[in-house]
Amino acid sequence: MNWTDKLYDFDALQKPDWEPKGLVFDVQRFAIHDGGGIRTNVFFKGCPLNCLWCQNPESIRWRQDISFVEQHCIQCRKCIAVCPVSAIKTDSCEERVTGIDKEKCILCGACFKTCYAGAINIIGRWLSVEDLVAMVNRDRDFYVASGGGITFSGGEPTGQPKFLLAALQAMQGLGLHTAVETCLHVPWEQLEPLLSHVDLLLTDIKHMDPERHGALTGVSNELILENFRNIAGLGIPVRVRIPLITGLNDDVANLQATADLIASCKNVQGVDVLPYNRLGISKCHQLGCDYALADVAPPSTESVEATADLFRSVADDVTVGGM
Ligand code: SF4
Ligand code: SF4
Repeated sequence: MNWTDKLYDFDALQKPDWEPKGLVFDVQRFAIHDGGGIRTNVFFKGCPLNCLWCQNPESIRWRQDISFVEQHCIQCRKCIAVCPVSAIKTDSCEERVTGIDKEKCILCGACFKTCYAGAINIIGRWLSVEDLVAMVNRDRDFYVASGGGITFSGGEPTGQPKFLLAALQAMQGLGLHTAVETCLHVPWEQLEPLLSHVDLLLTDIKHMDPERHGALTGVSNELILENFRNIAGLGIPVRVRIPLITGLNDDVANLQATADLIASCKNVQGVDVLPYNRLGISKCHQLGCDYALADVAPPSTESVEATADLFRSVADDVTVGGM
């Protein structure tokens, strides 16, 4: 990706005037894959990692984003007329709108409000805990009856710790099961106060080698593995996701090392093998960024099954699903 701003900016998100609202890029009702039962999934914006295979590239920056979907554009040129900083890009003949210049764009939203074709979208909105409670309360009966609840995902939800803590406490007050999906690349002193309000942690192990992890995600895995072992010591239920990326982390030595780690942690309740797919390509295109793995093929069925079998040797509940 060709974005230039900082990937790891917890300080900015902890400024007093940023809280108690949280910057969220999606809320999905009636989700069934991330924590058991029927759930609301809340996707936080901002992530300290920059995984090459990211399926949610719109989640990465710690700020709002803007996207352009060329197929929806009817070339009415109204966005050009309202943009105060000439950030709407056109082709060399200046006839067709082709995108948005992120370096110039000040995210004023004028083009978004003007574009009735829905070709321009602002990604990320600020939610209060009260907003969240109102949303979840509409579906609460389904969640309780199904053994579901709420899952905070991202992006990285622990990157907005004050809002996440307040949201977790509010959901517990409603009697709902709480799950947090985290990459675990977060200072322990920031993570630990949240854990007593979490019924299930979902986390993924991307690579066991620190240098290789750095090359694939932008950060070493040392903090992640330290946090993983700390959580095992506390006995908090964990479900581990394994993104399976052809040629990048699917070698037997890495997968066996991952399985050994899982076997050493008695709090792991299950493993989800997530074969790579190419869904991130079009999202990257809409955001005006490059997708590093455009030429990488999804893993074969045989590779996925062999990986699942390997993890069945260390966990009772192993699933195979989409990323
Ligand atoms: S306002 Fe929307 S539909 Fe019209 S040119 Fe701009 S992006 Fe395209
Ligand atoms: S959000 Fe504002 S500054 Fe950015 S492209 Fe649209 S009109 Fe221009």
